[in-house]
Amino acid sequence: MKLFFYEADENTLASEWAVELRRILSKAGLGAIDIAPVDEELAVAFNQWDGITDINSLVYHYVDDHNLDYIPLVLVTSNEGSKYHAYSKQEVGVADWGCWLAGPISVAYSTPSASLATQLHETLHLFNVDDCYDKDNQCLPKAQCADENCVMRYGKVSNQVCSSVLAQLRALSSNI
Ligand SMILES: [Zn+2]
Ligand SMILES: [Zn+2]
Repeated sequence: MKLFFYEADENTLASEWAVELRRILSKAGLGAIDIAPVDEELAVAFNQWDGITDINSLVYHYVDDHNLDYIPLVLVTSNEGSKYHAYSKQEVGVADWGCWLAGPISVAYSTPSASLATQLHETLHLFNVDDCYDKDNQCLPKAQCADENCVMRYGKVSNQVCSSVLAQLRALSSNI
C-alpha cells in the first residue's frame, strides 16, 4: 500500500505523523505501508493546479500517464487560506481544518496546534475510515464511537482512535 504526501506552502507534516499513523494502522493489522513524498511530476501538478478543476483528477491523470495498476493515496498539507482550503470549504462546508476530497486526495490546513490530529484524521479517510461525527446533526459524535478522544470526531485534537475506526481498518486489511 502506497501513501504519498505533498507539502504545499509552508505547512509541513507533523514530525510524529508517520509514527502515529503506522501505530494506528498496525493496531488494525495494516503493517506494511510505504510512505513517501510525491515525485517531481505530481508536485508540479499540485503546484500548477488552478484550485477549481477536480483535484482528484491530478492523481487519475498521473495513474494513466504511468500505467499504474494502483491508485496512490495523497495527503496534501497547506496553509489556512490556501487554494486547497478554499476548494475544500466549497466541497464540504464543515471542513475548517482539513478535508477528504472523495477520492485519493485528502488535504490538511489547520493551525499548527491541530496539525497532527488533522493530518491523522484526513489520512485515515484515505483508508476508507468514516467520520465519527454526524455533519447533518451539529457535528455530534455518532453512536458507534465510544472514545470521547477519538480523532475521527469533529474538532478533536488527539492521536487516539475508537474501536469502530479499528474495525473499519481491519475490514480493509482483510481485503488486501
Ligand atoms: Zn473527516
Ligand atoms: Zn471514533
